[in-house]
Amino acid sequence: DADMAMYHAKAKGRNNYQFFAKELAVLSSHRLSLRNKLKTAIEEQQFSLVYQPKVTTKDSRMVGVEALIRWNLPDGSTIPPDEFISAAEDNGLILPISEWVFEEAIKQARSWMTCAPSDFTVAINMSARQFQKPDLVENLVALLAKFQLPARCIEIEITESMVMEDVEAAIRVLSQLRSLGIKIAIDDFGTGYSSLGYLKSLPIDCLKIDKSFVDEIHGSKADRALVSTIIYLSHVMGVQVVAEGVETQEALMLLDEMTCDLIQGYYFSKPVSADAITEMLRDR
Ligand code: C2E
Ligand code: MG
Ligand code: MG
Ligand code: MG
Repeated sequence: DADMAMYHAKAKGRNNYQFFAKELAVLSSHRLSLRNKLKTAIEEQQFSLVYQPKVTTKDSRMVGVEALIRWNLPDGSTIPPDEFISAAEDNGLILPISEWVFEEAIKQARSWMTCAPSDFTVAINMSARQFQKPDLVENLVALLAKFQLPARCIEIEITESMVMEDVEAAIRVLSQLRSLGIKIAIDDFGTGYSSLGYLKSLPIDCLKIDKSFVDEIHGSKADRALVSTIIYLSHVMGVQVVAEGVETQEALMLLDEMTCDLIQGYYFSKPVSADAITEMLRDR
């Protein structure tokens, strides 16, 4: 009856509350321990980079690679970036982690110069915090000088939301980076704010169409039209297009028909070790 129902609702409510409080405690201790684990990871160098080839859609020529971070635990397991990058952005540890990523990727790019074509690029994902640092440009200049690497060998990937945070500041920083010769790519394009309007004012070299659209190009007419429009617009503006997450030959063939310049995805190669890339470069 009604009283009974009320009693149950209250009991349930209290239980829910207790459950919720417990969840919160678990969550914040999880966050704290993740922070401590990340600190240890930085101190004990538990990070590594893997590299995924970017190839021409037409003839599968490898024109560059993207550096992707991995966190290797002492027990032999690996934690993917989606599970710690955003936490590291929140707690600030992304800055020392990014510093390590940039140094490692630039060192590796330098060592590939002896076996790679001269237009070969190593793409690095920039973190949101790093992008906001006032000394970003001078730090990069110093790092390139330290390893004697020409700026044209590096491409920086940023997301739309990093640009939208402050469009004018972003344009200023991107222009500076580009005038050094560093290439700029917009990552995960299409998943952030709608961006066709400001696209024309962004100083960029490359646009990476997010996997979620690429996945749908055989099934959905709308996604096919979207992808083909993005490619058309990019080409009008002199920007190269990469399709991310290409897994099938069907997708590759459609993207080729749509004149997409480059593809990146498991269909050609998963992210692999630096040594594996070196072998691919030597075998070509
Ligand atoms: P992203 O920059 O968009 O990188 C592409 C992601 O898609 C990578 O995941 C890659 O392994 C995955 N991928 C590529 N081709 C395929 C495919 O055909 N199928 C599927 N299912 N996946 C594919 P990963 O390495 O787990 O990285 C996830 C995200 O973490 C990256 O997305 C990037 O946003 C971030 N990230 C990775 N490394 C770094 C880093 O060094 N610094 C920062 N700040 N972020 C990073
Ligand atoms: Mg990326
Ligand atoms: Mg992406
Ligand atoms: Mg992504």
